[in-house]
Amino acid sequence: MTSLLQALSCTDPSNPGDPESLSVERAREIILDLVAPVAGSERLPVRDTLGRVLAEDVISTMNVPGHDNSAMDGYAVRHADLAPEGETVLKLAGTAFAGRGFEGKVPPGQCVRIMTGGVIPEGTDTVVIQEVVKATADAVTIPPKQRQGQNVRRAGEDLREGAPALREGKLIRPAELGLIASLGIGEVTVKRRLRVAFFSTGDELCSIGTPLREGEVYDSNRYTIFGMLTRLGCEVIDLGVVRDSPEAIEAAFKEAAARADAIITSGGVSVGEADFIRGLMTQLGEVAFWKIAMRPGRPMAFGKIGSGENSAWLFGLPGNPVAVMVTFYEFVRDALQKLMGISPVEPLPQFRVPCVTPLKKRPGRTEFQRGVLFRENGEWKVRATGAQGSGILSSMSEANCLIVIELERGNIEPGEPVLVQSMEGLA
Ligand code: AMP
Ligand code: MG
Repeated sequence: MTSLLQALSCTDPSNPGDPESLSVERAREIILDLVAPVAGSERLPVRDTLGRVLAEDVISTMNVPGHDNSAMDGYAVRHADLAPEGETVLKLAGTAFAGRGFEGKVPPGQCVRIMTGGVIPEGTDTVVIQEVVKATADAVTIPPKQRQGQNVRRAGEDLREGAPALREGKLIRPAELGLIASLGIGEVTVKRRLRVAFFSTGDELCSIGTPLREGEVYDSNRYTIFGMLTRLGCEVIDLGVVRDSPEAIEAAFKEAAARADAIITSGGVSVGEADFIRGLMTQLGEVAFWKIAMRPGRPMAFGKIGSGENSAWLFGLPGNPVAVMVTFYEFVRDALQKLMGISPVEPLPQFRVPCVTPLKKRPGRTEFQRGVLFRENGEWKVRATGAQGSGILSSMSEANCLIVIELERGNIEPGEPVLVQSMEGLA
């Protein structure tokens, strides 16, 4: 069996310009290959499962709809009664409402007034919409050329009894809540929430509520990380700012590994950083330090801290606020989804649109510039936000997407199509 470290320590021949570095795609692949869904589930009332992940298939206990019923307001007829080329006069036998059907069998030569959702009366097979008939108090004239079975919703056409209505691994969105309710099911079994611990490292960092001293900055990464994790539906464990001291960092890692399934740190992974953090990560687990061919977010650590019960996946993100968000969206989000048990993992929506601003870009790395998707004359386009420095969080706030400029691409001229990644999912 290959050790985790062997699996992690691959360089990437697909990037000949810098074989020491890993492409974004390769790094994502390695991470997704290694992580596996956590065990554990709980049974919850349907509404409490919004944003959770099904731990077992939901099997349909019945046909939905339960009976053949009408898709329109009109008249239920026996198709065999209708003259193919001329009008047909049918006697009106009664009415079928939604929830209160027509009782008995409709004899030949007769029809039933039917409302949308009304059960198709026995003896009839076709619905003729009310707009095309001529009706008197006791008879209805049907024009020719009606198709057999038209305007009829079949029993089980939405969900068939005995078949899985939803599969294990499905992320529960509003549509799934409704679907489960349509089966009359009040409780479902979902994966337990994923526990994710995070902390920031850096002696220059100050937490909110404490006045800034000379040279200090407020810790913003714990807030963006909190937000991104909460949106994913994780249980967050905020371990605060951890001083750049070996004892403090070791204690934080040990606590995180004992309590969480995954740990996210920010800062301390670049080569120039206080080396003991990297040292500690290797000492406490199996961790690889990657140079990823991307910008922002070149240095990143990935691996496992601790062992057995007290272990957790580690995502050591760079310290820069924009790099934290970009690496989270590119590597951490999908990995956490897989750990949560979502199957298939749902990547952020991506599409190509023309870029109206020129973009500077050097071949040999994938760049993630902050962009604003907007509509002009009915067409979607993207423009870059202003300054693109990896510390400029306001560029992230202004943006609604990332412009992904592929590894080998160079400068982008206005009007060229670019790949954009929406930062909001569709859930
Ligand atoms: P590092 O990766 O630790 O060298 O940090 C790179 C840059 O990001 C430095 O300017 C840090 O001050 C800044 N930075 C690191 N951590 C945070 C944080 N938690 N909140 C805001 N800025 C940070
Ligand atoms: Mg630092």
